[in-house]
Amino acid sequence: MSALQVPLSAVSGGALPIDLETAGQSLQPEGVSGLPIGPVRIRGTLTGDGVQFVFTGHVAGSFTGTCARCLGPAEMPFDVEAIWVFSQGPLPHPLEDWEEEEVEDEEADSGVTRIPLDGNFIDLALAAWEEIALAMPLKFLCKETCAGLCPECGANLNDTRCGCAAGTNETTFANKGLKALGDLFPDLKPDRSED
Ligand SMILES: [Zn+2]
Ligand SMILES: [Zn+2]
Repeated sequence: MSALQVPLSAVSGGALPIDLETAGQSLQPEGVSGLPIGPVRIRGTLTGDGVQFVFTGHVAGSFTGTCARCLGPAEMPFDVEAIWVFSQGPLPHPLEDWEEEEVEDEEADSGVTRIPLDGNFIDLALAAWEEIALAMPLKFLCKETCAGLCPECGANLNDTRCGCAAGTNETTFANKGLKALGDLFPDLKPDRSED
């Protein structure tokens, strides 16, 4: 049992400070595909009354991948606020007691994740993994302002001005502004045949 599996007896009736750093892979449940993450830090407080246990804190680390614009390495830090409610048996506050829409709103706003307890320990690894999977960006960028690659010669425009018509600052700027329009109206794209 790793430090990420906290025995219920360690929490009951008190508050247990949590500050763990672990390799991202060590959080990965069996049978699910991996996430491109480095070390993960889980810090917060675990409280419990023997029936319900609540972790409030943060899960932080970095996603590592390939920049969608320049194909260079992209590291995207994350630091998500986590509220995990682990409970045995039926939830202590049955959802039927509340207006259903209110519950949905409140849980969506507060980011509360409810997790049934399975066995006599609290599995922080599983909860952290799900939190990280939800935080994963759809697209990796090395930086918001990444200039990408020259569409003509492939030079990395973050490092160099390659001199191609498409790679000079002037036309890159124009291309950026017009790209969305150009995708909608291909006739607007500059005609390169006269270069
Ligand atoms: Zn980039
Ligand atoms: Zn170029």
